[in-house]
Amino acid sequence: DDWAAAVAAVRGLPADARVLLICHVNPDGDALGSMLGFGLGLRRLGVHRLQATFPGPPEVPEPFRWLPGLDLLVPADEAYPDPDLVVCFDAASESRLGDLVDRLDTAGTSIVLDHHASNTGFGAVHLVDPTAAATSVVAEQLLSRLDVPLDAEIATGLYVALTTDTGSFRFAATTPEVHRLAARLLATGLHPGDISREVFDTRPFGAVRLFGEVLGRARLEPEAAAGHGLVWTDATLDDLARHDQQPYVLESLIDSVRCTAEADVACVLKQVGPVEWAVSMRSKGAVDVSAVAVALGGGGHRFAAGFTGSGDAEQVIARIRVELAGALTGGPAHADGCRSSRTR
Ligand code: 5GP
Ligand code: MN
Ligand code: MN
Repeated sequence: DDWAAAVAAVRGLPADARVLLICHVNPDGDALGSMLGFGLGLRRLGVHRLQATFPGPPEVPEPFRWLPGLDLLVPADEAYPDPDLVVCFDAASESRLGDLVDRLDTAGTSIVLDHHASNTGFGAVHLVDPTAAATSVVAEQLLSRLDVPLDAEIATGLYVALTTDTGSFRFAATTPEVHRLAARLLATGLHPGDISREVFDTRPFGAVRLFGEVLGRARLEPEAAAGHGLVWTDATLDDLARHDQQPYVLESLIDSVRCTAEADVACVLKQVGPVEWAVSMRSKGAVDVSAVAVALGGGGHRFAAGFTGSGDAEQVIARIRVELAGALTGGPAHADGCRSSRTR
């Protein structure tokens, strides 16, 4: 099966094999944490020609700039052009890999670790578990099958991945198995208080003021989403510039918007170009936002999804309104939403 194939692909590597780890564009805690945690595990196995990379701007977002294994990272244009093995993390489709997608063809073989239900099945060996709370759940299983013992450095990346994708163990994907994995990771001696302060609880003062402004102009549309309600706001490049902030600070903005009791669906439109918007969507259960995202060219999970839209903000939200009307799950409405949210 695929697990046996993945183990064989790693175990069969010659001593001087070049291994390239890749993850999705604009990497989040799961993409970076699973990739670097797994990479440190491969290093323990003796893989020494080892690189990790992601497409797009090469900067690691500030909240992750202390992760163990950052020394594995190289800019995408310096990554092995024809590695013996590619391992891909947290990417649902090839479109999330930018220019690195060619490595799936030039590599000797490839292993895809993911947990998106919408995963398109690209790559040679598929370790895709839509029931997994994070890609790091899959990564830890593969390390275990490779007999790599967890240490605090490996575990830190996997723990960052697990906590970011479960909203610190709040979302529906938080199963007993997730807590058992968290316990194994914590037992290595990592520091959960320090980690969550770095990842979740540290922002520049300018970001606090920026949030005040963009939250202050959030709009509530109770009739949207077939009466289940929509809340949304936008953050422009001008907002970022006026507060001297980097785009990464907006990643958590959706969490401040989606708590709105009167709306099942929350959207944040983040301007990334003159007429380009990265859209984050969350649902509490009445609406399948991945269907909305897919219809508009993106993807994601049922209750957390996204896409890139073009035009001005009003045009993008107008398209979302249209799709929302036809994306009801028939499942729990927002009163029951605490059981349904899941991100990344
Ligand atoms: P976030 O809103 O946190 O950026 O993303 C939430 C979920 O939507 C993640 O599972 C992510 O994979 C997916 N997603 C966000 N943006 C895009 C996009 O532009 N394309 C695709 N295919 N998925 C996206
Ligand atoms: Mn991700
Ligand atoms: Mn993920």
